[in-house]
Amino acid sequence: MLRQAGTERPGTGKLLNEKRSGKYLCKACGAELFSSKTKFDSHCGWPSFFDPDEKNAVIYRTDTLLGYERTEVRCAQCESHLGHVFPDAPQTPTGNRYCMNSVALTFVPDQD
Ligand SMILES: [Zn+2]
Repeated sequence: MLRQAGTERPGTGKLLNEKRSGKYLCKACGAELFSSKTKFDSHCGWPSFFDPDEKNAVIYRTDTLLGYERTEVRCAQCESHLGHVFPDAPQTPTGNRYCMNSVALTFVPDQD
């Protein structure tokens, strides 16, 4: 699943409604990819973030699988497919919506 550019059905991912503060790591290699600080409710049905934890935590590829260009997001360390990014979130500081697959991420809650 992680090695294919698959997409889970909307509304099914277990991290969609995760509200605790913490880090989202790459499930395949453990790299820190996103923070709960940039998670927002985009109503797209997948966990969504407006920025990666570090700019170089992810890499981008152009994907035309659906017949139009989308920007695929992969882990910079192991190149696992994570999801896609869309520049359609004007309500966020970056304007970007990183639409991620729950199955590609491991959530680690912060310790109090
Ligand atoms: Zn990785």
